[in-house]
Amino acid sequence: MYFVTFGTPTKPRLGLVEGDAVIDLAKAAGDARLPGDMLSLIEAGPAALKKIARLAAKTPRAARKPLSSLRLLAPIPHPRRNVFCLGLNYAEHAKESAEARGREVKLPQHPVFFTKATGAVNGPFDDIPCDPQVTQQLDWEVELGVIIGKAGKNIPREKAMEYVFGYTVVNDVSARDLQWNHQQFFKGKSLDGACPMGPWIVTADEIDNPHALAIRCRVNGVTKQDSTTANMIFTVPAIVEILSRGLTLQPGDVIATGTPSGVGFARTPPEFLQPGDVVECEVEKIGVIRNRIA
Ligand code: ZN
Repeated sequence: MYFVTFGTPTKPRLGLVEGDAVIDLAKAAGDARLPGDMLSLIEAGPAALKKIARLAAKTPRAARKPLSSLRLLAPIPHPRRNVFCLGLNYAEHAKESAEARGREVKLPQHPVFFTKATGAVNGPFDDIPCDPQVTQQLDWEVELGVIIGKAGKNIPREKAMEYVFGYTVVNDVSARDLQWNHQQFFKGKSLDGACPMGPWIVTADEIDNPHALAIRCRVNGVTKQDSTTANMIFTVPAIVEILSRGLTLQPGDVIATGTPSGVGFARTPPEFLQPGDVVECEVEKIGVIRNRIA
């Protein structure tokens, strides 16, 4: 199933996408109570998904909205806490990063975790603000986003996929000058609008293998990143196992699983996003997000 959040930022609505049409779930449900937003849907668990599948089967074509007529918001416009992220989770990216910074190439022995502030979350087709007074080095990072479906702590690897609700596409937009100046990743990764997500959440059952997906980023139509999620160093089950050690994951948590090689700062010469550029991030079987630099 493909779930969207659409409407206006002050009145977000939850929708189910089927083909090129969207069912406005609250409207279709009428008196039958359904979760009203994405976080409630995730928390409601499998029973709610079954209920929605039954509802969709009896919702006539005329009661659906054309997908193209809707403004899509980030699937979870206001996560309850920071977006968890992995740095250097693709070997080629770890290598290009080290080389660009004149450092010895070392693959991480443990996942490199950091977070992005919730205020960075941005819609799948909304503008990314870029203030040259703040950063001169805005960069792209296409990533597979994992959405946690239920609370868990010390989750063993073999059970990890039971905790995954679904997937989305994330652009981990990064202000490199801030990232380096401030030592820790947080500030350079957390500017307003620096976390476009979407266009929807695809439930886990739709994706047989999250480690066999093409992952690409284009800037103004030119391919910059082109890899596969098979190249992740730490897989989704490994990430869930290690992150949840002594740290309770919550339904609705978002984990951005790292970016492949081809980012701007590591290119020769380095390239950064400029106002007017259009950056597209795509993960196979999930979708494409497209944002203009404002
Ligand atoms: Zn990243």
